[in-house]
Amino acid sequence: MPDPIFTADVKLEPYWWEAAPRPPSTPPELPAHADVAIVGSGYTGLSAALTLARGGRDVVVLEAGELGQGASSRNAGFCGRTFNHGFSTLAGKTGLDNAVRVYRAGEAALDYLIQLIESEQIDCQFTRMGRFTGASFASHYELLARDTEGLRKHLGVEVEMVTKGDQHREVGLDIYHGGQVMLRDGGLHPALFHQGLLDRVVAAGATVAGNTPVTAIARETAGFTVTTPRGRIAARDVIVATNGYTGGLTPWQRRRVIPIGSYMIATEPLPEAQMDRLMPRDRVHSDTRKMVYYYRASPDRRRVLFGGRVSLSETDPRRATPRLHAELTRIFPELAETRVTHGWMGFVAYTFDKLPHLGRRDGIHYALGYCGSGISLASYFGARIGQQLLGRAEGRTGLDGLRFSGRPYYWGRPWFLAPAIRYYRWHDSLSVGG
Ligand SMILES: Cc1cc2nc3c(=O)[nH]c(=O)nc-3n(C[C@H](O)[C@H](O)[C@H](O)COP(=O)(O)OP(=O)(O)OC[C@H]3O[C@@H](n4cnc5c(N)ncnc54)[C@H](O)[C@@H]3O)c2cc1C
Repeated sequence: MPDPIFTADVKLEPYWWEAAPRPPSTPPELPAHADVAIVGSGYTGLSAALTLARGGRDVVVLEAGELGQGASSRNAGFCGRTFNHGFSTLAGKTGLDNAVRVYRAGEAALDYLIQLIESEQIDCQFTRMGRFTGASFASHYELLARDTEGLRKHLGVEVEMVTKGDQHREVGLDIYHGGQVMLRDGGLHPALFHQGLLDRVVAAGATVAGNTPVTAIARETAGFTVTTPRGRIAARDVIVATNGYTGGLTPWQRRRVIPIGSYMIATEPLPEAQMDRLMPRDRVHSDTRKMVYYYRASPDRRRVLFGGRVSLSETDPRRATPRLHAELTRIFPELAETRVTHGWMGFVAYTFDKLPHLGRRDGIHYALGYCGSGISLASYFGARIGQQLLGRAEGRTGLDGLRFSGRPYYWGRPWFLAPAIRYYRWHDSLSVGG
């Protein structure tokens, strides 16, 4: 029997692919030589390619599947300077100067993204609507307030607190204990942004090859040999831009990133008045639980797009979708009868210090580990890696030189994920009313 929460024409692929289907998949012939070979065609790989191709380098981008099939065409489209550590937590753990340095890099990344979209005139429905983070528990309101004060005082971030009494102006819910609004944050259509970047990379003269997995990278006396099933390329430099899809090709990086699935659904269109009541300011939304849920209106304001993590181990979207729908209904009881038109997932990359990393190992450049907030950071890091290879001073970032550690007995399969999720759920349950 068909599941009543699915529409008859439900698609188990990103809602975003309706407006931006995956590009045609016949890959071009591979060059025998390139100045730079880039592994991965998401925002990181394409931003690096754009910078390098415009800087006069011969660039080839190699993608295992369809172009942009990774997280870059699957995400929720929230654009900000969010890190996994709140500002005050990071300052408490690593010192104020370090927290300021990290958050400045986040600010620089958001500025870079906005400037990129504007200067390139990328039509990706980008709007600076602000981000509301609901305090899931009373004690979390105080944590958000402390962050707000620190971000204002030390970084001049435009951020404000909203009390529980006022929160209906942000969201049509009573479940939060007030919250925080990051006024300069925004939202975009991730797959249109990806498509816009791709068009510009191709126009700049780079070769971009989908369905071309890199199976080996071998160091030579001058550069590298990059092997694919479709041929070999002699490249002077290599950039690894594989984030949550990092595999056995680069074992050193694989031991340092933790791939975690994030799952999303799109509802069928809702009446305008209901959307206005649920999300009156059209912000992007999340909460303060460890097992965070995030949601927003679709850019046309007709649907709710809702995401989070609903299983202990990875599962497929058909199984995850009913559980996500149940969570959607728990948060928005009035959506219990609303059906789902799209359900999908993608992999994000966490790191053990919960910070993104860029650098060079065994001569191979890399940028990854955005911990679920990679739209601005991946675009920025990709461009910075490109500038570093061009020998430009502006390629430096506030996150250069961070020690990038793995953990004993971790080789790339997160065997600890299920116990960690159980712990986070338990932690969230303890915080109730806290
Ligand atoms: C459901 C979801 C929601 C998210 N929401 C947000 C959000 O709202 N805001 C935000 O800022 N971030 C969000 N993110 C995170 C963000 O999408 C990522 O951080 C960002 O897209 C990473 O870009 P990337 O180019 O580094 O990696 P990806 O876009 O994941 O690209 C990596 C590519 O490498 C390819 N690859 C891997 N191995 C090989 C190989 N051997 N050969 C060739 N190619 C290879 C993969 O096929 C993949 O296409 C979300 C992610 C998900 C999954």
